[in-house]
Amino acid sequence: MPQTPLELLRSTFGFEAFRGHQAEVIDHVVAGGDALVVMPTGGGKSLCYQVPGLLRSGVAVVVSPLIALMQDQVAALRQLGVRAAALNSTLDLAEAAEVEKAIRLEELDIVYVAPERLLTDRFLHHLDHCRVALFAIDEAHCVSQWGHDFRPEYLQLTLLHERYPDVPRIALTATADHQTRRDIVDRLALGSGRIFVAGFDRPNIRYRVAPKQDARSQLLRFIEAEHRGDSGIVYCNTRRAVDETATWLTGRGIAALPYHAGLDRADRAAHQDRFLREEGLVMVATIAFGMGIDKPDVRFVAHLDLPKSLEAYYQETGRAGRDGLASDAWMVYGLADVVRVRQLIEGSAAPDTQKRLERQKLDALLGFCETVQCRRQVLLAYFGDSCEPCGNCDTCLEPPEVFDGTEVAQKLLSCVYRTGQRFGAGHVIDILRGRDSERIRQLGHDRLSTWGIGKELSANQWRSVVRQLLASGLLVVDPDGHGALHVAAECRAVLKGERRIALRREVSGRPAGKSATSRSAVIEDGDRALFEELRALRRRLADEQGVPPYVIFHDSTLADMAQRRPGSRQSLANVSGVGGRKLELYGDAFLEVITHHQSMARVS
Ligand code: ADP
Ligand code: ZN
Repeated sequence: MPQTPLELLRSTFGFEAFRGHQAEVIDHVVAGGDALVVMPTGGGKSLCYQVPGLLRSGVAVVVSPLIALMQDQVAALRQLGVRAAALNSTLDLAEAAEVEKAIRLEELDIVYVAPERLLTDRFLHHLDHCRVALFAIDEAHCVSQWGHDFRPEYLQLTLLHERYPDVPRIALTATADHQTRRDIVDRLALGSGRIFVAGFDRPNIRYRVAPKQDARSQLLRFIEAEHRGDSGIVYCNTRRAVDETATWLTGRGIAALPYHAGLDRADRAAHQDRFLREEGLVMVATIAFGMGIDKPDVRFVAHLDLPKSLEAYYQETGRAGRDGLASDAWMVYGLADVVRVRQLIEGSAAPDTQKRLERQKLDALLGFCETVQCRRQVLLAYFGDSCEPCGNCDTCLEPPEVFDGTEVAQKLLSCVYRTGQRFGAGHVIDILRGRDSERIRQLGHDRLSTWGIGKELSANQWRSVVRQLLASGLLVVDPDGHGALHVAAECRAVLKGERRIALRREVSGRPAGKSATSRSAVIEDGDRALFEELRALRRRLADEQGVPPYVIFHDSTLADMAQRRPGSRQSLANVSGVGGRKLELYGDAFLEVITHHQSMARVS
């Protein structure tokens, strides 16, 4: 009796219902149709090909460029009792031959292959002689030169369509932009297939941006207050900042590891591996880290430096909370960051068109940082999506105070103008605040009409005003490297009082980046102890098998268990993420921990 997709979802994966477009996609592919699936990270793309792969006869071939991710997926599928294997450069000849034989004998349900492997005559020859359920092309944006992850081998994947015209193909990506999507359809010849696009919102991620004061201490306070013992990623722009931050955190009792392209390969691999397998590690990294990290329980992503663009920010923060549980995207940024990035763009040798594009991207990013609107709305609008004010970002939770900043903007702009547009923010702010220093007197700046006219704001508040005027393009940074501020042509209207400027008020003294509202915890306090016991059991089981803990059960499954406290196999089966095979393998062990915990609770 063939199973329906829903029956398979329940029996094998232990999930109750499909999410979003999953059911539609699966029906379409099971029936033999081609598809492009665009879903945000954590949206549940894997099931879209795994379920049809299991329901259709023959082996499902999954093309993936990311070896670490492949191994994880295979380990996770095997835990479910699915016959899965991976074919990539980590296998020796004998192991590879073993997998190929299994394919020929139709003893595999799902095989993951690196693209260069798939395209060899040898592999295609094997495929010619067996039934193929489908081709899934994961990370399909790699086919586009437009994005950052272009892989030339992906261009040759059209061959699949020509050689196996009857086998359905499903391409999957989390990339939001239209150009990439068009490239995928064109280059993989998916024109006659269906396109499924999910919304880009990641509702479980809380977005927060705070002014940078002392980035490391701010980070430490954030981790200590909200993420003790959690896994997280901290992004820095330079290798040196990565090394220093990791050492600094470790010295303060937060287990942290560095990751950047300057470490040797073995160290990098070892650090990545520890991050995946251990719980509660913080990875401090450059953007070299993250591609293909499928760890579901990353509870926060912190940026100590500005990311390259909103796309990059969205992708990097998207690594938090794949399991759907509450997670944080936390960033600090300051005036120096804005000045640095502006200089990088203006000073580069890139052609003008490229610079214009980069300027636009930076403006969008700064607009996001300085917004007084819901951050999620700004982010989604950038990707052509929309939402209501979300209630789960800093501007929603603690609406910033907005004031009519026309007058302070005028003061700042005219001070920049009167000093000949030759000085950086620090000096200009000193003049406005009426500082009486040797340098100021030497330059005669104490005799300017703008000297001392800005005492109503603190230096920090002035920096915030500078940032906001830079974000809105009224001020410009000189590209020469000294960070001198210039006024833009558009500021005339402001100086004449024809255009009013709204600014957000920097609240001095507010503990930076610490949200006053306590977040919805992954687990209720009363269930915490049992949850930790369940995690300890999971860690033991994972160590025994040499797999990451989340391959046994996700945190969300353990949280559900700790809350429901099932007393029998039957009720344990109702917990989300407990399928038939895991029930059999691990059910009794977890039930025992729960029962024991309950009886201890009764005694005390
Ligand atoms: P993506 O590849 O789109 O980033 P995944 O396929 O890794 O996302 O799925 C993200 C998480 O959501 C995984 O932990 C997965 O087990 C879970 N998940 C996916 N679909 C469902 C569902 N229908 N019910 C419950 N959990 C699901
Ligand atoms: Zn919001």
